Amino acid sequence: MPDTPILVSACLAGLYCRYNGEAEPFAPVVELIRRGRAVPFCPEVFGGLPTPRRPCEIRGDCVVDADGADRTAEFRRGAEEGARLAELLGCREAVLKARSPSCGSGEIYDGSFSSVRVPGDGFFARLLKARGIKVRTEEELAE
Ligand code: SF4
Repeated sequence: MPDTPILVSACLAGLYCRYNGEAEPFAPVVELIRRGRAVPFCPEVFGGLPTPRRPCEIRGDCVVDADGADRTAEFRRGAEEGARLAELLGCREAVLKARSPSCGSGEIYDGSFSSVRVPGDGFFARLLKARGIKVRTEEELAE
């Protein structure tokens, strides 16, 4: 049976979808795409948010942007769309961008927009883990 594709954060694949309109290409992830082993996805874009957009952080059960606007619904929708894609593709693992409020795994920012890190998962990473998908950050992939 062929390996199923790995779901990866689209910004790590070099796509310009970050909140600041930039990409963050990570060579091992780009190589996975080149070899047809990975599929890129951006939960924030699929949740309906524009690029560029205000930075967001998780605060309690919600997501707020730097102006205080509640973006929880968009984050939830994007995570659900990504989980649906993972199921369609039969993905068993994902490599996602460290510390993002969507993609972060194991560590995120604390909601104060002051670069303070706390243990936790982004909305998308949390949903994938709940569906039994193994999530690693690009930093863990590099280890
Ligand atoms: Fe990258 Fe994830 Fe942020 Fe999209 S939501 S820009 S894929 S870290």
